[in-house]
Amino acid sequence: MRYAILSDIHSNLEAFDAAEKDLQKEGVDKVFFLGDIVGYGPNPNECIERLRGLTDIVVAGNHDYAVIGYTDITYFNKYAMAVIEWTEKRLKEEYIEYLKKMPLIIPEIENMTLVHSTPYKPQEWNYITTLFDALENFNFFKQQLCFIGHSHQPVVIVLDADSRCYVERGETFKIRKDARYIINVGSVGQPRDGNADLSYAIYDSDESSARIKRLSYDIKKVQAKMRDERLPAYLIHRLEEGL
Ligand code: ZN
Repeated sequence: MRYAILSDIHSNLEAFDAAEKDLQKEGVDKVFFLGDIVGYGPNPNECIERLRGLTDIVVAGNHDYAVIGYTDITYFNKYAMAVIEWTEKRLKEEYIEYLKKMPLIIPEIENMTLVHSTPYKPQEWNYITTLFDALENFNFFKQQLCFIGHSHQPVVIVLDADSRCYVERGETFKIRKDARYIINVGSVGQPRDGNADLSYAIYDSDESSARIKRLSYDIKKVQAKMRDERLPAYLIHRLEEGL
């Protein structure tokens, strides 16, 4: 079985479109989404509509819950907060209902756990930024693989049979039977690792391998739409920097 795992689309329809075309080319069997369909970008309604057509295996991100008042946004920066308010005003009723049905975590789907932030207290929206954070979180899911998003920075963290915890390098990697993994798939709609190309993961359970894919998309087009909607200049500019 081949899975595509996407996260953090953030109302960026151009990036979503490029990712969708690519995963169709890859011939994946199932698509999972790890949260933050809205926030930052100019096309929240269109992105939810498209996601609904693509998969029903989804979890919520902090921006999704922020728009419907399910989580506190006082810790959001002013740009993120401005777009949450902008999105709130434009979101169609049926898509508000859609966001309300998104679960925080899918603890068990085949050999995987799906969550936006962390398996430990996902409602607190913490980040896994160090191996120490990762090591703690390995105790809070039972499956072999945990797919996450939230930081917009792809990274693969391994816990091997000897309890060694380390970062796996390279675009493609083997999934070893005796190891467990936390895989951050990066962001489709707003990458932040210094690479402006969209990011998503493909997991092949037959071949026991996974891959983080990076692809270019029409950044200028989404930036033009954001300018038309008078979204914050900082958010428009950061797309081309990938930061
Ligand atoms: Zn996000």
